Amino acid sequence: MQVNKVLKETKETLFSFELLPPLKGKSIQSIYDGIDPLVEFNPAFINVTYHREEFIYKKREKGYLEKIAIKKRPGTVGICAAIKNRYDIDTVPHLICGGFNKEETENALIDLHFLGINNVLALRGDPIKTETQFVPEEGGHQYAVDLVKQIVELNNGIYMDENIQNATPTNFSIGVAGYPEKHFESPNMQADIKRLKQKIDAGAGYIVTQLFFDNQKYFDFVKACRDAGIDVPIVPGIKPIESLRHITFLPKFFNIDLPEALTNELDKCDSNQDAKQVGMEWAIAQSKELKENGVPCIHYYTMGRSSSVKQIASQVF
Ligand code: FAD
Repeated sequence: MQVNKVLKETKETLFSFELLPPLKGKSIQSIYDGIDPLVEFNPAFINVTYHREEFIYKKREKGYLEKIAIKKRPGTVGICAAIKNRYDIDTVPHLICGGFNKEETENALIDLHFLGINNVLALRGDPIKTETQFVPEEGGHQYAVDLVKQIVELNNGIYMDENIQNATPTNFSIGVAGYPEKHFESPNMQADIKRLKQKIDAGAGYIVTQLFFDNQKYFDFVKACRDAGIDVPIVPGIKPIESLRHITFLPKFFNIDLPEALTNELDKCDSNQDAKQVGMEWAIAQSKELKENGVPCIHYYTMGRSSSVKQIASQVF
């Protein structure tokens, strides 16, 4: 099933979630252990993130430093196929511009097409740790909109090699990212929404938001998108706080704010367990309000842990 159609047609709020591939060396069982407790809530789709390579320096003889590329979490496509095979649930692999030239992107899309995976979340990717700003691969895409355009070309049967005639078109449903608190590089919200609209105009069929803790920011974002002429489903992304460390890590890593009412409650917590309880109650309240407001789907960021999401889902779905 194509996620854009599922979201457009649904009469009730759907449940979906996102997983990270396990660290290299770990078994796929850790993925199944994350999914099994959530299957009873009938997920409409499961997203699997993509993690590009990082560079490390290893000391060699005579003090030389060798630059080595390592991928800590490979396996996105394989995991998507394994989930589909084992649970018969639709999967959405994340595909990023970073680290791919256009030919490699095309080949990755062909792999997905042959596996029967016809959903993609098209993203630019963040700068790698050793870069201060995003640098595209030589012959790769600078922005997510360019990736969306390439996927649309394949959906029209247009491959990079112009000698390929009468090619089989792919049928990808394309999702893109949106930011209720603005993307951190964007000069202002209106500029960011203008760029978001370009991704929709290029052929993306729905938006999944960055995580947020203040529903009003999501409602304002949806209104601003509608005012700008964006009419596709906008799926809110929810992440429960699960530890005291999250109080500083989440704002820093995702460029988002935690509302004062939430931090006041977290200030009273002495342990990770207390913080997790507060985080869960907050996410339940957020989810209930979003559902009452008729959002098409609530998408949960599990970050590899599903126990909080299970408890939230059991109260909401
Ligand atoms: P873009 O849409 O390309 O936007 C990036 C910035 O450029 C924005 O500030 C935008 O306003 C601006 N911009 C866009 N077009 C133009 C233009 N033509 N001219 C000038 N400025 C422009 N990262 C991963 O590495 N792997 C993942 O699996 C992953 N999953 C994600 C899932 C979700 C739901 C979200 C919200 C983010 C995810 N990310 C992931 C992070 C994402 O890659 C980063 O937030 C990245 O910095 C931006 O990606 P984008 O697709 O929004 O980029």
